[in-house]
Amino acid sequence: MKLLEGKPIRDKRRQELADVVKQMPVTPKLAIIQVGSREDSNAYIKQKQIFGESIGCVVELFSFPDTVEVEVVVEMVKKLNSDVSVHGIILQLPLPPQIDAQKIIATIDPLKDVDGLTSVSTKYLWENKPWHRPATARGVSTLLRESGISVSGKKVVVVGRSSLVGKPVALLLLHQDATVTIAHSKTPDLASVTRGADILIVATGVPGLITQGYVHQDQVVIDVGINLVTGQKYEEEVPGRLFTGDVLFNEVKDKVLAITPVPGGVGPLTVLSLFENLIDAVKLLSTEAGKNGV
Ligand code: NAD
Repeated sequence: MKLLEGKPIRDKRRQELADVVKQMPVTPKLAIIQVGSREDSNAYIKQKQIFGESIGCVVELFSFPDTVEVEVVVEMVKKLNSDVSVHGIILQLPLPPQIDAQKIIATIDPLKDVDGLTSVSTKYLWENKPWHRPATARGVSTLLRESGISVSGKKVVVVGRSSLVGKPVALLLLHQDATVTIAHSKTPDLASVTRGADILIVATGVPGLITQGYVHQDQVVIDVGINLVTGQKYEEEVPGRLFTGDVLFNEVKDKVLAITPVPGGVGPLTVLSLFENLIDAVKLLSTEAGKNGV
């Protein structure tokens, strides 16, 4: 079994990105909007700040209480859209249920949409036009490429169909000539579908969903899931670890060709991809499209 670790790939690219940023005429700046104060969101934001600052970017956090009116956040996004010192804007998800995330995302200038979630970014992903891709999808693609795993002509099964992860991953790999199947919570006999994959990508948020009966020995398994686990079963499986993936790692790891760990697999590359998108945004904003809008 080969362990597909994201950290070494991220660290190699970190130096390259730092060099790129040093040569840029402006300092790339990312604005992060947070509503509420979820513990996991705080941790993800911290990771983004640490990585961004390590390559010479500015990362500014705009926090709102979960009682905020959505219009107040929308006004902040509009201000950030017209602030020329800001090149990327992201909304840290998930939001408290009473806040309309779509309304906020729809306000983000697509040129600054470094999470690739606006309708313009979605359309360009659908059309395979170069643009900001959702960071996790770009991260999965980078992980496969940098690990020397070709996607072209392979059977890829993506479990999960969210707009944030499942669908963008599926589309991105489809554009790389994979034959893609998307499975989800209503897919009958999921194990027979996942066993048909050369490359299995799991993004469900269900800890330990994929067990040895779901995989085969020639398979590459990419576990996107990050789940905070307090259940006895998982604490026993990975002592002292707070997070686990959607794959029962210890049971599956020796039954497959290659597998990502959680944490340390896709997660670091999601952060990397966000800043690759930010650097792309600086370039895009300085082009004609950037000057004239989309
Ligand atoms: P989501 O809840 O929006 O979507 C989950 C998807 O999984 C749905 O499409 C659903 O149909 C499917 N699903 C749920 N239960 C299932 C089951 N029993 N069988 C088959 N399919 C099932 O979640 P999301 O935002 O797509 O995130 C998925 C996971 O990825 C979460 O653990 C999240 O924390 C993680 N995540 C990781 C990164 C990263 O950088 N590694 C980034 C974003 C999200």
